[in-house]
Amino acid sequence: MSKVKVAINGFGTIGKRVADAILLQDDMELIGVSKTKPDYVAKYAIERGLFLYVPEGTKERFEEKGFKVAGTIREMIEKADIVIDATPSKIGAKNKELYEKIGVKAIFQGGEKHEVAGFSFNAYVNYDDAKGRQYVRVISCNTTGLIRSLNAINELFKIKEAFAVITRRAADPADTKSGIINAIEPTIPIPSHHGPDVKTVLDVPITTMAVKVPTTLMHLHSIMVKTHEKPNKKDLLDAFENYKRILLVSKDLGISATSQIIELARDHGRKRYDLFELVIWEDSIAIENHTIYFYQAVHQEAIVVPENIDAIRAMFEIADKEESIKKTDSSLGIGALKI
Ligand code: NAD
Repeated sequence: MSKVKVAINGFGTIGKRVADAILLQDDMELIGVSKTKPDYVAKYAIERGLFLYVPEGTKERFEEKGFKVAGTIREMIEKADIVIDATPSKIGAKNKELYEKIGVKAIFQGGEKHEVAGFSFNAYVNYDDAKGRQYVRVISCNTTGLIRSLNAINELFKIKEAFAVITRRAADPADTKSGIINAIEPTIPIPSHHGPDVKTVLDVPITTMAVKVPTTLMHLHSIMVKTHEKPNKKDLLDAFENYKRILLVSKDLGISATSQIIELARDHGRKRYDLFELVIWEDSIAIENHTIYFYQAVHQEAIVVPENIDAIRAMFEIADKEESIKKTDSSLGIGALKI
């Protein structure tokens, strides 16, 4: 088939990164992005050479500021084979009505409920089940991180029970919404929504708790997994290393905090310091009888980007799982960053 025409509805934290990733794919074409406000991000989109689409009746507001508008969001969606809905949580559910009317495929993000798409996606776990689907939801950053490591463990030693405490960044770096400044906020009630969300993709018994802390860089997960088969560290490390979307780091090499992980991404020239990989501290892995303990970190702004790209290929059945993951990884430099 010719290139898949992709529209990005919501050019924010996730939308702009997925747009960049689409531009790197030889089997996809970015037909446009949408913005609701004529701000610096809209200006950046135009300067990047992207077609900008805006809500009905707002064209003049953009043009008054000298921003060239290609059309309305509806017109953008009518031209697309698929929409990546990267609008804020709960807006995607409202947008679905329009996608249904136009008959376009859509990918929703983790801020939407599983039911909005009826199918939640992770490339490693259920790529084949996404084939041909009209709607897919790419699970959230924390859930994607949990699934990557838990799936590797489950394939090796079969998970009996998992427990994770998620230390959540309070806001993304560009956010100016009010939030916690000098406090730690536990997520109540327990369990947090992350455990049930994992189960929409991977069938493992898991309970999660979460606390928000005043940082913007990354999330940190403290994980405990009980397994049916006796785990051993060598096989576990080999498995993690084989997953290109997992990056192993160590305190021994001076990475003792999320700030140093981000510095590593900067040193390696990653745009916006994006880390598409789940980061696991290999020297945190401890095994006691049938229980594995470790820490992992998630760059919330970037980890779901490769999953969106693979979801598109699955929905249009233009590549099998291994081929798609390989293409996505090599286009984003995943696997090239090793320490
Ligand atoms: P964001 O606020 O950074 O960006 C959303 C963009 O959508 C903004 O540009 C906003 O102007 C635009 N927008 C708002 N209403 C719109 C509408 N009606 N039509 C078109 N555009 C509209 O949000 P985000 O952080 O990129 O989150 C997007 C989705 O991705 C959410 O479901 C979120 O839960 C999920 N997600 C976010 C993160 C993260 O850490 N930021 C990680 C994984 C998943």
